[in-house]
Amino acid sequence: MRNILVSGGCGFIGSHLVDRLLGRSDIDRLVVVDNLWTGLRENISHIADPRLTLEVGDVEAFRSPLQFDEILHLASPASPSWYMREPVRVIKANVAGALNLLTLLKPGGRFCFTSTSEVYGDPSVNPQPESYRGSVDCTGPRSSYDESKRCTEALLFEAQRTSGIDVRVVRLFNVYGPRTRVDDGRAVSNFISQALTTGVLTVYGDGAQSRSWGYVDDIVDGLERFFWRDVISHRGPLNIGNDREISVLQVARYIAGLVPGSSIQHHPAMPQDPTNRRPDLTLARRILPGWEAGIPYEEGILRTLAWFREKLDGPKACAEDAVS
Ligand code: UDP
Repeated sequence: MRNILVSGGCGFIGSHLVDRLLGRSDIDRLVVVDNLWTGLRENISHIADPRLTLEVGDVEAFRSPLQFDEILHLASPASPSWYMREPVRVIKANVAGALNLLTLLKPGGRFCFTSTSEVYGDPSVNPQPESYRGSVDCTGPRSSYDESKRCTEALLFEAQRTSGIDVRVVRLFNVYGPRTRVDDGRAVSNFISQALTTGVLTVYGDGAQSRSWGYVDDIVDGLERFFWRDVISHRGPLNIGNDREISVLQVARYIAGLVPGSSIQHHPAMPQDPTNRRPDLTLARRILPGWEAGIPYEEGILRTLAWFREKLDGPKACAEDAVS
């Protein structure tokens, strides 16, 4: 029986992974380490499984008498508006977090890490294969996130090379879906919560910049297969995402069209906002045969909108019930 640790397990993607992990029968204990900075306790509050424990605290300071067979390191904000606010804390969570967690890995254990398409910076090749080394400004406004993900990749692949540690590293491309924070600030979640509240969707710059938006269920399908389900010798880095590239303005228009009365307002461009981003999925298709991020953004956004509507209306509806 196995002990598993998920850092950032109360977060958006982490909590979906926790749900999947608890479907396994070979797990004895699943420990979630989360300081609830961007993660939310409610993301795992539906789980009654006695194998699950939540340790609230910083991943870089986490201590445990246990050693773990598998460690999944997801603790880090991923939204620019959050990581730019506290860059030192972001670097600590990623790099110091990984260094600390490595000390808790059983000999022969596996260390999984969610890196990011941000390692490609503002790319000069499109789509981006894993071999593309990126165009990142190590002193720029996005550096705390980009460089700490890059440094953690370096740490893990060097640990693999020098100590034989079994590592799995994925690079995720703009994941969205249910359990994103309402105040997360990234494009899809921001546009949806703005459409449902103020009615004004804030597009930064002209909106011609593009991303490849991956619906969370598709992405977690890929993670599940790569991190534990399939027998795969490749350790990564592995691009995981949806390779349909869509401009920010198109996404904003689509969401505005779904919520009557909402409109689009242009704001100054974000500093060093990447102009494009699209995964080259050749490797993913080879090592995860049959896997595809198949949910089109139109459908994924409808599902996310429904979830946000419930989330935003829930407390109000309850309060109204209480009054009547
Ligand atoms: N964006 C926007 N309005 C928002 C939030 C984001 O126009 O309210 C833009 C942002 O400038 C970027 C794209 O949407 O070009 C994706 O931003 P996000 O923060 O979702 O992810 P990232 O920049 O890390 O890819």
